[in-house]
Amino acid sequence: MSYFPVLMPVYNRVDLHMERGEGAYVFDDKGNRYLDFLVGVGVVSLGHCHPHVVEALKKQAEALWTVSNLFKTHSGERLAQRLVDLTFADTVFFQNSGVEAWECGIKTMRKYFSATGKPERYRVVTFKGNFHGRTMTAIAASKSDKMVGGFGPLIDGFDLAEFGDIESVRAVVTDETAGIAIEPIVGEGGFKVPPAGFLRQIRELCDEKGMLLMFDEVQCGMGRSGKLFAHEWDGVVPDIMCIAKALGNGFPIGACLATAKAAQGMTKGTHGSTYGGNPLATEVGNAVLDIMTTPGFLEEVRRKGDVWGKRLEDLVKAHPKVFSSARGRGLMRGLVCVPPNGSVSAALRDEKLLAIEAGENVVRFLPPLVVTDEQLDEAAEAIDRAAKKLGAVA
Ligand SMILES: *Cc1c(COP(=O)(O)O)cnc(C)c1O
Repeated sequence: MSYFPVLMPVYNRVDLHMERGEGAYVFDDKGNRYLDFLVGVGVVSLGHCHPHVVEALKKQAEALWTVSNLFKTHSGERLAQRLVDLTFADTVFFQNSGVEAWECGIKTMRKYFSATGKPERYRVVTFKGNFHGRTMTAIAASKSDKMVGGFGPLIDGFDLAEFGDIESVRAVVTDETAGIAIEPIVGEGGFKVPPAGFLRQIRELCDEKGMLLMFDEVQCGMGRSGKLFAHEWDGVVPDIMCIAKALGNGFPIGACLATAKAAQGMTKGTHGSTYGGNPLATEVGNAVLDIMTTPGFLEEVRRKGDVWGKRLEDLVKAHPKVFSSARGRGLMRGLVCVPPNGSVSAALRDEKLLAIEAGENVVRFLPPLVVTDEQLDEAAEAIDRAAKKLGAVA
């Protein structure tokens, strides 16, 4: 083979070299400015180069980068304690990414049953259209052709149910089922909010069968839905939860949270990570929490989410040939497209608005949570312009 790109071509990369970010905007190497409603796919939720986060990272960079989990840091303990205080959890393990946090959650779930004398319970129910990342375990949990093709044999132990349909969950639960893993709002699969009561039914089924419940809040967590965690909308708690993305505002960090009961198998030597919980990452996480726990922050996300939701509904009404409906919650919303969603996100990029496709032909918008009302207007106008052009050719 004579030519092969230096970056392995597993992404369909847009031919733009991004160079600088500032709040809700990113700039390419030609100085073009884009309104960023993609933010690294739900990562840079406080906007690019948020001063408080930059300050925390700089300060830590001059103090200590890494010591290994063989030692403690006050920064790591503080972030873990804050996450425990803010959630159902008693304990936290830090990782470097979303899929690692998911992996830790699945290991925690299986280990619980082996530690309590039921090693035959190792299977996990997941949902069609899920996305938990790209490791062998996460793709095995998805079973989607796109993700698993050519990578077999797959890890055994995942059974798919229909999102939103409790009977389909009951149908795959057996004596070998350890638990259920679900995104409380589906991310890559198309920004689907569960039908009212569904997460509660899942929780009740777990309690009835002695199963553990794991929430993947890697995308929908950390304020995106207008609550710190999306499951708070449903008033139910999991036994295990994985988070990442916005926890680091662009610095790699993930975390697996669990109750003491669920984590009882995770004893000395059962799991680990070289970089997980390094103080650069945990200081950034602490700085992110400083902002997100400021009184009024999440109320503002909900208010802007409502404003944005109305804008999207208006765009559907104005452009029925381009958009069939709007969906989502908080600042996690998208438009279901009539033409292929890839053509819509490309048209938006021409209008200097960055957004990304999701399943079910959705274009999803992940504005920074600090987006202003004016920037929401600016985005709605860009969508309107793009839709006019697309509608003219439809
Ligand atoms: C992005 C994502 C992951 C994987 O996170 P990585 O950091 O890319 O490994 C897992 N679960 C959900 C819901 C995600 O959106």
